[in-house]
Amino acid sequence: MKYFLILAVMLHFLFGAKVIHKEWEKGQTFSEYLKVNNISASFLESISKEDQKFLLEIRNRYKYYELKNDTGTLLQALIPISVEMQIHIFRKRSGSGYGFDIIPIAYKKNEYYANILIEKNPYTDTLDTIKQARVAKKLSMVFKGDVDAKKLKKKDEISFVYTQRTRLGFIYAMPEIEVVRVKRKDKEKFIYVDENGAGYKETAKKVSYTVMGKKKVTYTRKVPASKKEAMFGMPLRKVRITSSFSYRRWHPILRRYRPHHGTDFGARRGTPLLAVNSGKVIFSGRMGGYGKVVKIKHDGGYISLYAHQSRIRVKKGQHVKKGQVIGYVGSTGRSTGPHLHFGLMKNGRWIDPMKVLRKKSIKTSIMKKFTRYEDAKITKYKDVDIVQINKDKAKLMKYVEENATSYIWPEEEELTVHLQDKEKFL
Ligand SMILES: [Zn+2]
Repeated sequence: MKYFLILAVMLHFLFGAKVIHKEWEKGQTFSEYLKVNNISASFLESISKEDQKFLLEIRNRYKYYELKNDTGTLLQALIPISVEMQIHIFRKRSGSGYGFDIIPIAYKKNEYYANILIEKNPYTDTLDTIKQARVAKKLSMVFKGDVDAKKLKKKDEISFVYTQRTRLGFIYAMPEIEVVRVKRKDKEKFIYVDENGAGYKETAKKVSYTVMGKKKVTYTRKVPASKKEAMFGMPLRKVRITSSFSYRRWHPILRRYRPHHGTDFGARRGTPLLAVNSGKVIFSGRMGGYGKVVKIKHDGGYISLYAHQSRIRVKKGQHVKKGQVIGYVGSTGRSTGPHLHFGLMKNGRWIDPMKVLRKKSIKTSIMKKFTRYEDAKITKYKDVDIVQINKDKAKLMKYVEENATSYIWPEEEELTVHLQDKEKFL
């Protein structure tokens, strides 16, 4: 927390300093960024090899902040590397050189209420009422799994509670809808929302949802592994996890947060590394702290990464099959001993590989779970935490009974950062 205080305190004293909020340029590297800001290359060398890995994780979709003085000198920069963590560059108080750290992103999470009268459809009417496309989008996702929502008529009513994160006064990350009430004539019903943003309607103690049209459906039935949609296998024949995935992991000895965007597997030097699925090699070579690395692009928006290899066996552009040997375990780059650092990206974001990788051997002919898109109209049931559902429902009903008005979001450009507004920086 002290870093945010420093930022706030600096803002207070540095009259003439300017806060800039912008998007990272597509393809821009960290060293190019330093050059643009007249920061010497020796600063990059002063960053530990371990931390240099995270410089590769800056994405152009993330907005970052800069604090500059009137001569354009960079005083501070806050550059996100995930929803939770950001790079912090700060000009040292002595005035000579810069410091570097990776710190949690401070954000506020506020609750809002919306009551939408149906005129056209939930998406358009939500957008017209509360002026926030992200919320309208999320509401559409909630309704996707629920067939009755399509029968909504004029003058029907939708009420819901949602939370939105803000960072330094700007909308930040996607909103989360908690529970939705649909009122049609005199009937009302509730739709509950799970952690993935899908909506379910209540039926006794379980909640049910109806799947219609093209829908991603997860089944628990047996299929032959030879099918294209077969799941990801493990990157090693024998699996021993030594360190798990985490967006922000507290290091008790160093007393700081660092993300670990992958799973570490313990293995002897020279152990073969296997492609977790078929795909195309998009990188093969050295990559900073990762040492010798192979990156493979797979169907479904996935990219797998195999770091610290002793020897690489595939070339960029090459197509590989699931289970094919792509290299060998080693300790190149920033590594304390032979191990595999395995990363898995989905649609440009690091995800926990263990949620996708299957422990079954690659040759297994039967897989229990798989996901695919299909035309379907199925009613499925899901066990949910009834306590939370009742809490969410009570919260929503309180707003409804108070006849609360919908929160209307101001236009984006009005949410500017004001230097004097210290509150926003804490
Ligand atoms: Zn690792």
